[in-house]
Amino acid sequence: MKGIGIGIGIGIDMLNIAVIGAGLSGLTAANILNTHANVTVFDKAKGPSGRLATRRADPYNFDHGCQFFSAKSSTFKEFLAPMLRQGVIKPWNATFVEIENRQITKSRQWDAQTPHYVGSPSMNAVGKFLSQGLSLVLGTAVTAVGKIPRGWVLKGETGQNLGQFDWVVSAIPAQQAAQLWPEDTSFYTKVKSAKMEGCFTLMLGFEAGLPLDYQAALVRGEDISWISVNSSKPDRNSATTLLVHSTNGWATQHDGLDRNEALQHLLKQTSLVMGQDVSHADHKAIHQWRYANCSKRTGETHFIDHASRSGACGDWLIKGRVEAAFTSGYSIAQDILSQL
Ligand SMILES: Cc1cc2nc3c(=O)[nH]c(=O)nc-3n(C[C@H](O)[C@H](O)[C@H](O)COP(=O)(O)OP(=O)(O)OC[C@H]3O[C@@H](n4cnc5c(N)ncnc54)[C@H](O)[C@@H]3O)c2cc1C
Repeated sequence: MKGIGIGIGIGIDMLNIAVIGAGLSGLTAANILNTHANVTVFDKAKGPSGRLATRRADPYNFDHGCQFFSAKSSTFKEFLAPMLRQGVIKPWNATFVEIENRQITKSRQWDAQTPHYVGSPSMNAVGKFLSQGLSLVLGTAVTAVGKIPRGWVLKGETGQNLGQFDWVVSAIPAQQAAQLWPEDTSFYTKVKSAKMEGCFTLMLGFEAGLPLDYQAALVRGEDISWISVNSSKPDRNSATTLLVHSTNGWATQHDGLDRNEALQHLLKQTSLVMGQDVSHADHKAIHQWRYANCSKRTGETHFIDHASRSGACGDWLIKGRVEAAFTSGYSIAQDILSQL
């Protein structure tokens, strides 16, 4: 399919497009554009998938970013269909509860009627699947995007030239995007004013099981907002694992907190909320997300400048959700295609 859309019949070379960020928004855009242009995707991490993330610590594994996602729009449902057919994503039929004042106030069973999807056997299976067939440059942070007469040049951490491109799309959190784009880029001010909040994630592994009446819990009125039994998700084949997220507010207020102090605080909170001591966990780890969620919506699905052939996408333009990341990546790709 490559070459359809431009080049063919009019005798020009296909455009080179750089996508910075191999999370869902970047991979969505790259997959759509890849059939019409030469697309290169850069990511600073060792693997693709971004916040659809998985961390392994044998015999445990944790989806330490996104917990599950749902699909409302027909476009997103269509996009997910091949992954569903091939078992890359599966519904997680958890018993879900809401906890307030350390009491379970609501409980319901998730089922096929409103599926709550997770990657299988781990959340990052989504990014791995979507990376197939793409030109992916991993372990490479893009540190600068510079304008040149006929396009853009990307620079890496040591100042190395990462290539010249006709189009550049950033698909990374707002604060990180603001560090990349030159200040005279037309959407720079809008990127710069978008804010994202952090999250601390506590990961606990238990050699023996843990008695619990639920697999997923939304927690209100505490410094933690979420508890899940990660090992209850489909195909985990892992010893018992608990995954706890702090609230975004607590994480933002305690941005510079020593990691061990953060771990101890969340451990204590988890024991109090669950009504059982979990400090005996055999594995304890913490991860800090600096850019987990967005507090303010931009009112746009993506930012684009057709004249300079540049754009920005990512969940933060819409909402800190997987479907929003998809919508943003999808819409910027369609916008670029409309001009090719
Ligand atoms: C703790 C947490 C819990 C969440 N829970 C849920 C949930 O339950 N349900 C839900 O729907 N959503 C949830 N989300 C949100 C969801 O994960 C995101 O909306 C979605 O994954 C964002 O995709 P993205 O492509 O916009 O960004 P990202 O996934 O952040 O992708 C950006 C990528 O860019 C890379 N990158 C950044 N800077 C550079 C650079 N300079 N050079 C190269 N690469 C770079 C990063 O390594 C990353 O891979 C959660 C997120 C977090 C952090």
